Amino acid sequence: MWKRSSSFLLRQRRQAPLSTSRVNSSLENQTNQHAMGQWFMVQQQRSITSFMTNNDWPNSRNGSSSSVQSPAGTTMDKNSFSTATALSSSSSSKRELQQRFLVVGSGVAGCSAALVAAETYGIPVTLVYAGELPTDCNSYWAQGGIIYRNYDPASNDSAELLSQDVQRAGAGLCVEEAVWKLATEGPSRVRELLLNPESCFADVPFQRNAESGELECCLEASHAAPRIIYKADHTGKVITQHITAAALQHPLINIIPNSIVTNLLTSTSSDGSACVGAMVLNKATGETSPIVAPNGTLLASGGLGGIYKHSTNPMGFNALGSSVALAQRAGVNVTDLEYVQFHPTALYIPNENRYLLTEALRGEGAKLRDATGRAFATDFDPQGELAPRDVVARGVYEKLLENTEQHNVYLDISHRDPTWLQQRFPSIHKYLRSKNLDLTKDALPITPAAHYTCGGITTDLNGCTSLPGLYSAGEAARTGVHGGNRLASTSLLEGIVYGASVADYIGQHRSHLLEQSNTLLHTPSTQTELLQLKQQKRQPSNTNQIVSVNKRAEELLHQLKQCMWDHVGVVRTPKGLEQAMNELTDIHDEAHELLEILPNSIATIALRDACMAGQAVTQAAYSNRKSAGAHYIVTDEEEYDDDDEEDAVAAVVTN
Ligand SMILES: Cc1cc2nc3c(=O)[nH]c(=O)nc-3n(C[C@H](O)[C@H](O)[C@H](O)COP(=O)(O)OP(=O)(O)OC[C@H]3O[C@@H](n4cnc5c(N)ncnc54)[C@H](O)[C@@H]3O)c2cc1C
Repeated sequence: MWKRSSSFLLRQRRQAPLSTSRVNSSLENQTNQHAMGQWFMVQQQRSITSFMTNNDWPNSRNGSSSSVQSPAGTTMDKNSFSTATALSSSSSSKRELQQRFLVVGSGVAGCSAALVAAETYGIPVTLVYAGELPTDCNSYWAQGGIIYRNYDPASNDSAELLSQDVQRAGAGLCVEEAVWKLATEGPSRVRELLLNPESCFADVPFQRNAESGELECCLEASHAAPRIIYKADHTGKVITQHITAAALQHPLINIIPNSIVTNLLTSTSSDGSACVGAMVLNKATGETSPIVAPNGTLLASGGLGGIYKHSTNPMGFNALGSSVALAQRAGVNVTDLEYVQFHPTALYIPNENRYLLTEALRGEGAKLRDATGRAFATDFDPQGELAPRDVVARGVYEKLLENTEQHNVYLDISHRDPTWLQQRFPSIHKYLRSKNLDLTKDALPITPAAHYTCGGITTDLNGCTSLPGLYSAGEAARTGVHGGNRLASTSLLEGIVYGASVADYIGQHRSHLLEQSNTLLHTPSTQTELLQLKQQKRQPSNTNQIVSVNKRAEELLHQLKQCMWDHVGVVRTPKGLEQAMNELTDIHDEAHELLEILPNSIATIALRDACMAGQAVTQAAYSNRKSAGAHYIVTDEEEYDDDDEEDAVAAVVTN
């Protein structure tokens, strides 16, 4: 049914893949290859980050933490960012070229991995990300909080208790060891990376008790104990600002914005294939160049919520399914993609991006009302607004379909005290005011929206994927923590725990890993291929053609998002999924034609990745006829029927 896309970068460019590498035992050859490797890598480094110089590395960790100047707790704003980036990037050196660990993504997962690799193991890191600011990521937008541990004995909180909560939310589909790792390692990783005033990590100003100075722990739906630390309704913002500032200030971390990874570089020897780096598009110049990463490549490039028409994920080249697409093109395993979590309450303003209205609003008494003002939540579940998230999402979805003439679902908390509301939800209040809406007075138009990708690139407990040299963490990865659905506030923690674990794994196996990758990298065939990649020039296109190809790519992306929403959304049917597969196959074919014409256009690259990810989600949903957690599928005859709720494996509220 599917036209399988070619797995390797170079095949797509109609060249041979990085050819089979043979270890050459001749000393002379080895020396030449090594020299060539140096030359090549220096060249490509200059072209990608023209501001980099060959300064020596300051003495870093592994003995000397004193060389690190960054005061924990500093944050970045837009003005200081370009200066900091230039400073951060100016310290590139020969050592980095020989030992680089490439991190893709500036969210919590990428920054955690980069900081632990650089600070704990002294590994030079290059961190690339698609946005302009490192805070251009889902992590920035997290509203609720991050799981910690409630150390008050009265709370009864423990790793066992958290583990049970996560597994219940995951509809029995979680990988037990993965959940246990999160539950046991979580608190110490939070202290190491986010509550660490003494080091190069971050010191995030979470909410603290005014008198005791202790961290405030709040309770979220489906947690058996209050264990979530937070900052008002913008926890992701403070975490991201502090952790990206720490990464920017670390002398061993080069941060390169506006860089889109378009493909993974793989090399093959008689021992099998391995990832040796990535191809990166510099958005400013339109040039694509290879970045070689002898110490491994981490995809911390987020999820795929952005491939849906309605999504809480921020716009831009973010959450467009790059992680899954990059992995699939390199033949790397992905799992559980049918479990896309839909949030029931995203603000709906036509022609504007959706904006999350946190679950906490319903927790504080917000009502779901239809266009007549009637509160309808108990129609679909006795728990009303506090029913499990996927149940509420389906209730809202059905209510919207009932009335196609006018918007039919609103969230209303106007009965609560206005002053308290403004203090409790300051960011939401401010955002709504900018849209001429008032949290304290108005019923807010809402829709369900794609929110979180439970599946992703399959990894083990160290973040290793099925391709040696390639790692994944955060929303990009399927560690098995979430199973069929995600418990509130687990994803930031997962990003930190598993991102840091990737760095630990690389740090602890470094000499062996470097030996393997250098063997692959310094063979003549690999070097020749890399040089050819470096020398590829942007294809000349006339302006009219560029405009029309980009316009068409944008139209197709729009069509794709509509298709995913209509057929692979909150409620799925086999017939609807078949229709989606056909539509996506057509989009896929045209997307490849457009990419052939404009290989370095952000629009054509985004479309290709979104399309591959969409196809993978649709295929996974089609192959799994059992409703569980976030995947809800009914027969074609039934379409949607409330009775199906009973058959679905219950999934618990998530945030
Ligand atoms: C509105 C909202 C509220 C949320 N609330 C919470 C909450 O309260 N608690 C909680 O635990 N979780 C919450 N989540 C989920 C959580 O924020 C994310 O799952 C988590 O932050 C993902 O982190 P990450 O590091 O894996 O990816 P992200 O933070 O999404 O970062 C992805 C990075 O990859 C980069 N990238 C993507 N593709 C490419 C490419 N091809 N090349 C180069 N770079 C690329 C992007 O530029 C970005 O830097 C929320 C999510 C949203 C959207």
